[in-house]
Amino acid sequence: MRVSSSTQHWFDQGKQQLLNLFLASPCPLCQRSTAAILCPNCCRQVRQCQLSTPCDRTLPGLAVVSWGRYEGSLRQVIGNLKYSGHREVAQFLGTELGQTWRDGSSGWAFDYRTTVGTLSRPVAIVPIPLHPGKQQQRGFNQADLLAQAFCRFTQLPLHSHGLRRVMATQAQHSLGWSARQQNLAQAFAVEPKQADALRQTTVWLLDDIFTTGATAQAAAQTLRRSGIAVAGICTVARAIAWNADPNPASPRHFTPTVDGR
Ligand SMILES: [Zn+2]
Repeated sequence: MRVSSSTQHWFDQGKQQLLNLFLASPCPLCQRSTAAILCPNCCRQVRQCQLSTPCDRTLPGLAVVSWGRYEGSLRQVIGNLKYSGHREVAQFLGTELGQTWRDGSSGWAFDYRTTVGTLSRPVAIVPIPLHPGKQQQRGFNQADLLAQAFCRFTQLPLHSHGLRRVMATQAQHSLGWSARQQNLAQAFAVEPKQADALRQTTVWLLDDIFTTGATAQAAAQTLRRSGIAVAGICTVARAIAWNADPNPASPRHFTPTVDGR
């Protein structure tokens, strides 16, 4: 029996809709049913937070590569990941950050490796760890989940346990810069079993949010004290004054935020 192309099209559409119905789950932001991680509308809103200039070099000795501004829907979706346990969101955000890395890797990433003289060393990704008590309470480390998705996309090697958090730190938002640094100086340790392997690489740290850079600096110092080269940090979001981005989607007031652990 011959099936006309319009009948076939109708049949295919019906099959896809039925499949979507089975695969659909509530969008973590608006609760509408969707077959993707975020519904198309929320996905668009989160992407409006994307930075036009992902690489920032204002922190001494560390390049900072961020996917978006920590505000609006991006801030909300990161909150859903961390505080409501929507782990699937890490897949979306980690992949978006991976895309930013891949788009820039022949530019800033290459330049930076040349600058620090470690061009021949392969890149390794080390997520910023949570203190074990905090991780047990949350059930996961959001930076590690993001790094897993990032590394699946970029094919870069992931060292999930390259760094350990050895001390619970005081909430950072109430402290000044030097107090933050002091608070964080002893917070990290290199995992001894991974130190040799990491010395053969150039490390890029990975975290969910970049605020003042105190956490990134402390983690990088800890690695460098063990003879490990660190080029920079990749984060999904950067807390930023709205007018610091040359093409902000919408002006809004900037409120300093907690160093988002
Ligand atoms: Zn939605």
